[in-house]
Amino acid sequence: MNRMHGTDRMDRVSRIPPNPPTSKVQLVDLQRQHEELATEIDSAIRSVLASNAFILSREVSDFEEEFAEYCGVKHCIGTGCGLDALVLAMRALDVGPGDEVIIPANTFIATALAVTETGATAVLVDHDPDTYNLDPRRLPAAITCRTRAIIPVHLYGQPADMDQIRAIADEHDLLILEDACQAHGAMYKGRCCGSFGEAAAFSFYPGKNLGACGDGGAVVTNDDEVAHRVRKLANYGSVVKYHHEELGRNSRLDSIQAAILRIKLRHLDTWNDLRRWAADVYTEQLADLPVVLPITTESCEHVHHLFVIRCAHRDRLLNFLAQRNIHGGIHYPIPIHRQPAYRDACIVSGPLTWTESFCGELLSLPMHPHLTLAEVEAVVCGIRDFHDQLCSEQIESAVSVSRSGVG
Ligand SMILES: *Cc1c(COP(=O)(O)O)cnc(C)c1O
Repeated sequence: MNRMHGTDRMDRVSRIPPNPPTSKVQLVDLQRQHEELATEIDSAIRSVLASNAFILSREVSDFEEEFAEYCGVKHCIGTGCGLDALVLAMRALDVGPGDEVIIPANTFIATALAVTETGATAVLVDHDPDTYNLDPRRLPAAITCRTRAIIPVHLYGQPADMDQIRAIADEHDLLILEDACQAHGAMYKGRCCGSFGEAAAFSFYPGKNLGACGDGGAVVTNDDEVAHRVRKLANYGSVVKYHHEELGRNSRLDSIQAAILRIKLRHLDTWNDLRRWAADVYTEQLADLPVVLPITTESCEHVHHLFVIRCAHRDRLLNFLAQRNIHGGIHYPIPIHRQPAYRDACIVSGPLTWTESFCGELLSLPMHPHLTLAEVEAVVCGIRDFHDQLCSEQIESAVSVSRSGVG
C-alpha cells in the first residue's frame, strides 16, 4: 500500500478509489476465531452432551478454578451473563435501596442497569478525556452520605486508575466493584483487572476478548463470604437443594459454555497480544492524520477490546468505510443520562463535558485478534482517502467562493 505524506497527498485528490476489499473487514470476526478452534470446540461440546451434566458440572467448576487462577484471585463464580454478575456481586455486597453507586457516564448500559436493578441509584460522573476511564478527580464531588460503592469500568480494555480510586474509596469507606467486562487479561501495575475491587464482574458475551458461544459471565473475588453469597444468590438463594435462605435467582454459567471457555482461555494471552499488535499498526499508520488515537497509560497493559478513535465528520467516515466493506462501530452513541430509560432514573454529578462532547466523535475501528495486516492497512487507507476527499472538497469550495468573489 502506498502511504501518502504531506504534499504528495494533494496529488491524490482526484484519483479513483481502489477496489474495495473482496471480503468484509468486520468490527469483530467470530467466524475466524471459531475456525481456529472448531475441532476442539466440537469435541468439547460432544463430551458435555455425552455426560448429560449440563448445570453446575465439573466443566463449570474447572473453568471457575482456571479463570480465578488466571485473574490472580481466590474465587470465580460463573453466572448467566455479565449484567447478572454485576447485580449478584452488588447484592452480595449488600448494596440496595437507598444507596448511591458511582459509575462512569460513558459505559455500556449494563453498568447502570445493574445498579438500578439492586434498587440503588446510579450516579454518573465524567471520564478522563485521555483514557476514557472514570476520572478519580470527579469522585469527591459525587460522594454523598448515601454513597456505598464505586464501579470503575476498565473501558475499551484499558485499566482504570485503580490506585487513585482505591485511595478515595478507602477514605470514604466505599466498596469497589470492578466492571471488567471489557478487560479480560488487562493489567494494572502488574496485576490483573478483576483483582482490585471487593469483587469484579466479567462478561463472556461472544464478542468480548474471552467470549463464549452464547451468554455467560462471572464474578471474581478474594472474599470468601462474597463468593459464598454470590454462589447462593445465583442458585435460587440456596446452598442445600430446596432450602432457600435468601431471595435468589437463577443465573449460572452453563456447562457447554464453560467447556468452550476453558479452551479459549488458553488462547487469551496470545489473542490479546495480537490485538496489541493491530493497535500498534493503527497507531503508527494513523499518526499523521487528523484523528485522536487511544493512548495506553503508563503501568497499564491495555487489551484493546475496542480500538476507539475520535474524529470530525464521524458519521460520514463510518459510511465512507462501510462503502468499502469496512465495518466500524460507535461505543457509545447515546450517553446513559440521555437514554429514555434513564430520564428520571439516575443522578448526574457535575458537568459531563467529555461524555457529551465525545459521543458524536467516537469511532471504533475493526479490532479482533484475527485481523490481517492487509485488513488493518485497508482501514488506514480508507481513513486516509476520506481525509483526502474532505481536503479536496474544502479546496473546491474555497475556489468557488473566490470565483464568485471575482464575478
Ligand atoms: C458487555 C458488558 C457488560 C454486560 O455483559 P453481558 O454479558 O452482555 O450482560 C457490562 N458492562 C460492560 C462495560 C460491558 O462491555
